[in-house]
Amino acid sequence: MAKRKVTLIPGDGIGPEVSLAAQRCVDATGVAIDWEVVHAGADVMEKAGTPLPENVLESIRRNKIAIKGPVTTPIGSGFRSVNVALRKELDLYACLRPCKLYPGIKGFHENIDLIIVRENTEDLYAGIEFDANSKEADTLVSKIMELNPKAKFNPHPAISIKPISEKASARIVRFAFETAIKEKRRKVTAVHKANIMKSTDGLFLRVAHDVAKEYVGRIEFEDRIVDNMCMQLVQRPREYDVVVLPNLYGDIISDLCAGLIGGLGIAPGANIGDTVALFEATHGSAPKYKGQNKANPTAMILSGVLMLHHLGEWDAASRLENAVAKVLKEGRFVTYDLKPHRNDPTAVGTSQMADAIIKELKG
Ligand code: NAD
Repeated sequence: MAKRKVTLIPGDGIGPEVSLAAQRCVDATGVAIDWEVVHAGADVMEKAGTPLPENVLESIRRNKIAIKGPVTTPIGSGFRSVNVALRKELDLYACLRPCKLYPGIKGFHENIDLIIVRENTEDLYAGIEFDANSKEADTLVSKIMELNPKAKFNPHPAISIKPISEKASARIVRFAFETAIKEKRRKVTAVHKANIMKSTDGLFLRVAHDVAKEYVGRIEFEDRIVDNMCMQLVQRPREYDVVVLPNLYGDIISDLCAGLIGGLGIAPGANIGDTVALFEATHGSAPKYKGQNKANPTAMILSGVLMLHHLGEWDAASRLENAVAKVLKEGRFVTYDLKPHRNDPTAVGTSQMADAIIKELKG
């Protein structure tokens, strides 16, 4: 059978190590993949003059499927996020983050199996920002005060814009319901702050209720205010099933849910559009562990499992997931973050954990 072409972006920080682990595990399933390796992020910035060179986008558009290690985004200043740019350029409007607690992982609760669906293209993440004291921000303040005389500002503020549209809200809520049906789930919960942001989150909530009507009798629907949802997820995560959120709340709640299932080292993800899918862990580039063979590769390997699913390689996907689950349950060949104590001398490195998973897969 012809090899499937997949774009692989190793990323930076711990990215190259966890990406290599995922690549080796996917290869060990026997699915024939022709990896097309392209580079993005801080390390290519100097040479290419941009952290996201055109050949990266071209490769993903052509192959329609990609897997990516985390990429560092400078805080406060410097280039904009490569991750956000990829999602916007390729219209990867849905971010899917399954949060499953595997046996052997110590958590605060048992049997957690949530799916987070995060809107990926708008909200405060849209990158429409104006610096404090800039001419643009001051012009915007004057315009807003002209349009809304009740608006009050402190002098020369920085401004970030939060666009929420009917189109993007309907698309993501429908994606959440379709995911619920495909994954044989019971309920969708929409999360918002519509009591305060009546225009933006109010629109998201209204659209969610409208879309939910199409699924009455098949999938239950409810909504929750985001602050309450944080508390509910910490206390009673098993009451939730598929959770759909605008971009920023989705980002925050994904990390909260990762904390419920053993930490960021475990949580996989997928960014999905109508034609292209890009798989990546929820975690970032953890620069302090760069090059130390220390980071947990599980999140990237489970992102590989999601990719195999997407390719229709269901048997390979379930064999790889079972191999990961066995290694996690046994708890011997796991990285420091999965040991009872962080300085446990029996913890293994990134590549040794991948070796154990491959051995299980082939065993
Ligand atoms: P992070 O996810 O890199 O790290 C947060 C914490 O989790 C750290 O303590 C880290 O040591 C730990 N951690 C993360 N992944 C781990 C793993 N695989 N194994 C063990 N421990 C792990 O988040 P951060 O520190 O906020 O961000 C670092 C950089 O990554 C930033 O530049 C940020 O913008 C970027 N980032 C990128 C992505 C992406 O590429 N999709 C996502 C999130 C953050």
